[in-house]
Amino acid sequence: MLEVITGGMFAGKTDELIRRLERHSIARRRVALVKPDLDTRTTKVRTHNGKEFDSITVGCNDPVGIEQIIAQNEVIGFDEGEFFGETLYQLLKAYEQSGTDKIFIVGGLDMDSEGEPFGIMPQLMAIASRITKLHAVCENCFEPANISYSLVEKKAQVLVGGKDKYKALCWKCAAAEKKKKTQNIQD
Ligand SMILES: [Zn+2]
Repeated sequence: MLEVITGGMFAGKTDELIRRLERHSIARRRVALVKPDLDTRTTKVRTHNGKEFDSITVGCNDPVGIEQIIAQNEVIGFDEGEFFGETLYQLLKAYEQSGTDKIFIVGGLDMDSEGEPFGIMPQLMAIASRITKLHAVCENCFEPANISYSLVEKKAQVLVGGKDKYKALCWKCAAAEKKKKTQNIQD
């Protein structure tokens, strides 16, 4: 079964992923947490709240490495799912649509800081059996946030960072910030 936990940054996706993995662990299932080698912040998966879970780092497009981990475990979690390539989508689709007993739980960003669907997340959401969409709190107006707004100029879709580089905003506040930014450039 494929489960997807998605939403913006600071929404608690990794907390939810670890919570589910811990429950499977207590139920004596063999559990692994996989993270992409693009995110080099730590060898463990750590949430913004400081919660930790042992993880295995694999290449974003390394089907052999990922398949080995799948073969050895019953429940496989993936953190930062948006950074994995098409390979992971094809692999999980093949398992899911074969009626596998394995449980896959993928956590990842739904959109990048420009509001565009991020990597393979939209495809995974389409084929998943269960989707959970979480929201951070807008840092400007305290309504549910929709987007991880980028505070710095970035040249690529992938820019790993935390509160130093991103801010959770609702659409209204993000639009207002964008307007302010363009006005500043024009001035
Ligand atoms: Zn807001």
